[in-house]
Amino acid sequence: MDTKAFKRSLQHSENYNRKGFGHQAEVATQLQSEYQSNLIQEIRDRNYTLQRGDVTIRLAQAFGFCWGVERAVAMAYETRQHFPTEHIWITNEIIHNPSVNQRMQEMEVEFIPIEGKNKDFSVVGIGDVVILPAFGASVQEMQILHEKGCKIVDTTCPWVSKVWNTVEKHKKIDYTSIIHGKYKHEETVATSSFAGKYLIVLNLPEAEYVADYIINGGNREEFLTKFAKACSAGFDPDRDLERVGIANQTTMLKGETEQIGKLFERTMLQKYGPTELNQHFQSFNTICDATQERQDAMLELVEHNLDLMVVIGGFNSSNTTQLQQIAFERGIPSYHIDTVERLKSVDSIEHRQLNGQLITTENWLPDGEIVVGITSGASTPDKVVEDVIEKIFTLKATGALV
Ligand code: SF4
Repeated sequence: MDTKAFKRSLQHSENYNRKGFGHQAEVATQLQSEYQSNLIQEIRDRNYTLQRGDVTIRLAQAFGFCWGVERAVAMAYETRQHFPTEHIWITNEIIHNPSVNQRMQEMEVEFIPIEGKNKDFSVVGIGDVVILPAFGASVQEMQILHEKGCKIVDTTCPWVSKVWNTVEKHKKIDYTSIIHGKYKHEETVATSSFAGKYLIVLNLPEAEYVADYIINGGNREEFLTKFAKACSAGFDPDRDLERVGIANQTTMLKGETEQIGKLFERTMLQKYGPTELNQHFQSFNTICDATQERQDAMLELVEHNLDLMVVIGGFNSSNTTQLQQIAFERGIPSYHIDTVERLKSVDSIEHRQLNGQLITTENWLPDGEIVVGITSGASTPDKVVEDVIEKIFTLKATGALV
């Protein structure tokens, strides 16, 4: 499929909207009351710290809702206002946050059901409204919805669209897109649907494996098995790694994406020499500012003397996991939670480990005076962060089971 031409024709269709419906002022008040927090504003005003009793909270200087997420949520609210009686669907969680997704359901914005491994679009009727979430949707999904005559409200973040444009550029000049991301993540699924040839690398070790193959060759079968779920159909490492361009899932660790870019630049330089480099390597900056700011703020926060960190965000939120990883690497006891309900008592917290396992840790709140670092992922409303901080204050003050 000519994905670029399809995208262009979709954007000219009268059933397509990516700018909202002019109800911004009305939904702004609603969003303010549902998601904003006076306590968080107070902590910001106090230079990102607040002490109560034995607890000092240190908040990261950039955290929580990014503008792409705010925009997507506002557009979803506007969509409900604009189509008060229509059936509204969303192809995936609008963002990776349970409380926001819960609100969507209360507003009768339904998720497309999943049958086995695939979404069942047969439930969507002609003329239904379908919202595409902040991290986008695959071109195949857009095509199905367009052909069904649905009204499509596209909240895809412009930063994500920028990555799609990058892989389109690679495709046009017959480069393979090396995408730093998670092959199952919806954003990467969407990005790879716009790519021609692509290979998804999760981290630096995987990128090094590929770079080594480019320089030294290797076991083709092993390569194909390793990346079986993470490459385009018919991918051939002996043919398709001669010209590569870098793209990324916007929420991956910025430093790692940069390292991967540099690694492939060095690799192509070594293999083809400086005069040929531009014929074999392409790199555009597609790292999202918001992700970068939150990671930088986290790096600054972990420089302080912290007794523990609480990282708040959806369990399937990639950028939240990246923040948690920074705390983990510094050896700070850190707990990734998605809602305040995970704080069971002063003695017990349920939290997600980096390996994805949900565990309960006892005695997580030390006695005496403590400093607690707090941050949250780009899809977490301030209200959720407030609830967590209030509960930490209460637990420390009363020591009671709550
Ligand atoms: S994290 Fe960045 S790319 Fe993702 S929605 Fe927010 S602004 Fe957009």
